[in-house]
Amino acid sequence: MSQPALPLSGRCRCGEIELRISARPILTMACHCGGCQRMSASAYSLSAAIPAAGFAVTRGEPVLGGLRNPDLRHFFCPSCMSWMFTRPPGVITRFLPEFVNVRATMLDDVSWFSPFVETWTRTRLPWVTTPAVHGYPEFPPVEDYAMLLAEFAKTPAAGQARETA
Ligand SMILES: [Zn+2]
Ligand SMILES: [Zn+2]
Repeated sequence: MSQPALPLSGRCRCGEIELRISARPILTMACHCGGCQRMSASAYSLSAAIPAAGFAVTRGEPVLGGLRNPDLRHFFCPSCMSWMFTRPPGVITRFLPEFVNVRATMLDDVSWFSPFVETWTRTRLPWVTTPAVHGYPEFPPVEDYAMLLAEFAKTPAAGQARETA
């Protein structure tokens, strides 16, 4: 995991939707849950939690997909159907600053990314390993988020120490 060079640009498979990230992540994750396996069409999803103020859609109009749960909004490109980002449920944002979970592989430069936490290891495919530092059988208990954010803030991807120096 290294320091992302801001701003980061991102886009869907067809280029109709473009993203711009102007803040460093507060956490990076891999999720092995059945929902992520289906929506990502892969073994697990990759997320970079970006402070909401540092996230912008700069081109196109993403649409809701997944289960269309009003409290957990998954956004997709309406044309190529790439799963691009998720606005998380209120139960989480009560414990954290407002953030957007960007699917890390939408970014043009993803070389800095590695997952710090992995979730839903209970349904991880048996051959999968990730370099995550923390793992949880399901989602982390809400009281763990403060510790996870504090530890992540010390990693190069969070980059705070160097920027203010
Ligand atoms: Zn697209
Ligand atoms: Zn998941």
